[in-house]
Amino acid sequence: MKRIGLLGGMSWESTAVYYRRVNEQVRDRLGGLNSADVVLRSVNFDRIVTLQKAGAWNEAADALGQVARELEDAGADMILICTNTMHLLASEVQASVGVPLVHIADVTGEAVAAAGCRRPLLLATRYTMEQAFYRQRLKQAFDIDALIPDAADRQAVHDIIFSELCCGIVKESSKERYIQVVEAGKAAGADSVILGCTEIGLLVGPDDFDIPTFDSTLLHADAAVELSLSSTMTGTKARTRGQAADLHQSVLL
Ligand code: GLU
Repeated sequence: MKRIGLLGGMSWESTAVYYRRVNEQVRDRLGGLNSADVVLRSVNFDRIVTLQKAGAWNEAADALGQVARELEDAGADMILICTNTMHLLASEVQASVGVPLVHIADVTGEAVAAAGCRRPLLLATRYTMEQAFYRQRLKQAFDIDALIPDAADRQAVHDIIFSELCCGIVKESSKERYIQVVEAGKAAGADSVILGCTEIGLLVGPDDFDIPTFDSTLLHADAAVELSLSSTMTGTKARTRGQAADLHQSVLL
């Protein structure tokens, strides 16, 4: 079993979901008392949010790159950045380690495409919805055209993530608001929904919508377990950075 490196704390509310999910998946797959081989680093989210708000992405990349190296030094065979938003810095984080980064947009896009969906509504932070990095990756790798809510709905989705879900607050009124946003997305042509922020699954899930719903957190955790238990991934420690990136492509795409 390969060691899963979780770069978490963004927020810890969703990192806790990752930790539970990888362990449940390994138990389901191997039975008995089997559990996941995990190393977790959890950052102070307040510091990361300060850098996000300031647009200090270089500094954030340095910080996350350092933590990724610490995970690698602790024996991680793969790195998962446990947030969609900070995949804005996926290349920088990948470049700082010699083990593969499991990219959350790749595993999510793969699931969306496998289900035959092509126009998912992307619910996420404003960074993920409004900047190009996430939607472009879905388009280039899977020919998926992700839709995003209108400006007022994007603000509501974003605010609920940071003011409530990341603080452990789950409100029925916010769930209703998300359902409204998805109804508007359907009217605009969405054929599915991506829960493209790792906390959104704490608020809503597939039972709340009548179109296919893809939870990036669960898909990401499941992909890590798949890789951890796969025989394809051997001798990761000896790889160069470039080779690690190549392996990531061949295993996941
Ligand atoms: N966990 C969230 C995400 O998946 C937002 C937190 C962050 O800004 O990193 O995007």
